[in-house]
Amino acid sequence: MNIAENIDKIKAELAGTSARLIAVTKTKPLEDLQAAYDANCTIFGENKVQEMVQKWEVLPKDIEWHLIGHLQSNKVKYMAEFVAMIHSVDSLKLLQEIDKQASKHNRVIDCLLQIYIAQEETKFGLSEDEAREILDSEEFKAMKNIRIVGVMGMATNTDDQEQIRLEFRSLKTFFETLKSEYSANENLQFREISMGMSGDFMIAAEEGSTLVRVGSAIFGSR
Ligand SMILES: *Cc1c(COP(=O)(O)O)cnc(C)c1O
Repeated sequence: MNIAENIDKIKAELAGTSARLIAVTKTKPLEDLQAAYDANCTIFGENKVQEMVQKWEVLPKDIEWHLIGHLQSNKVKYMAEFVAMIHSVDSLKLLQEIDKQASKHNRVIDCLLQIYIAQEETKFGLSEDEAREILDSEEFKAMKNIRIVGVMGMATNTDDQEQIRLEFRSLKTFFETLKSEYSANENLQFREISMGMSGDFMIAAEEGSTLVRVGSAIFGSR
């Protein structure tokens, strides 16, 4: 597994699309992360807070750390100092905690609303109505230390490429709907659609992804 070659190949495939590459580094050792960094890939995605903190402490400080996995409110404080984007916001309560912890560090943390798009029972995420409820709430409007910058979704784990494509397309459509319904302001800017993983990142890019989250296609299987 040549990490640099894999990154170059994926970046070449993504050239001409709007998608930027997030290297999903969960469970991988520091050498692998350093190899990705040396290959000019400086946006890393982790799904566990503690693991991300440990890696952040020792790796170069210009890495952008994205939390992509399900997040419990009591973990937010450990990463509020440095996390660049949280992809997995799935409740108002979690958003309130992010806002609170970010304020302690005088930061504004970029967040994505995780939207449920898959035909599966196991995936986390908000329905479209639940997402609107958050955006319409007085609590959200009062928040000063978070900024919702878009949406994230995970397609069904299936070989059916057409189903995956339709699920990504539905997320893009929802993104465009929200963008037209809500006027941008200090804590709301619709600019990111986080969708696509190792098996489907090109479909996602074709359907308008701005952030693909790729792990095993770079680092090998976990
Ligand atoms: C692990 C993970 C990925 C990357 O998965 P691969 O199939 O290895 O590319 C992407 N998104 C989330 C939320 C993940 O947990």
